[in-house]
Amino acid sequence: MSDCLFCRIVAGEIPADVVASDERYVAFRDIEPQAPTHLLVVPRVHVESLDAAEDAELLGSLFAFAREVARQAGVAGSGYRAVVNTNADAQQTVPHLHVHIMGGRKFTWPPG
Ligand code: 5GP
Ligand code: ZN
Repeated sequence: MSDCLFCRIVAGEIPADVVASDERYVAFRDIEPQAPTHLLVVPRVHVESLDAAEDAELLGSLFAFAREVARQAGVAGSGYRAVVNTNADAQQTVPHLHVHIMGGRKFTWPPG
């Protein structure tokens, strides 16, 4: 989608600090990091949200890719949050499916 922020990052139209990519997924640093490691992992295809995703295989592979990204970032052993904010109550602000990978500090539970 031409007016979607993450589609534009995937297309290289908006610069981002890309840390990993393959033919289906791209991982880049969050512009406003909430943890020492804060990455966003997105499918190259436009899917609005987890709720809107109809391709279960795409979702499974997205998480497998996100797990590799977390390992490469060096947070797998110490631990990390993989978060998918979905729709308004969860404060999803960018309507293109993304997994937040956050690590490098201790998190509290429950989240705010
Ligand atoms: P959400 O609130 O939808 O779960 O997450 C959207 C995330 O995208 C936020 O953490 C926000 O900081 C990040 N973000 C918003 N605009 C940009 C941008 O232009 N570049 C990057 N790298 N991240 C962005
Ligand atoms: Zn998009």
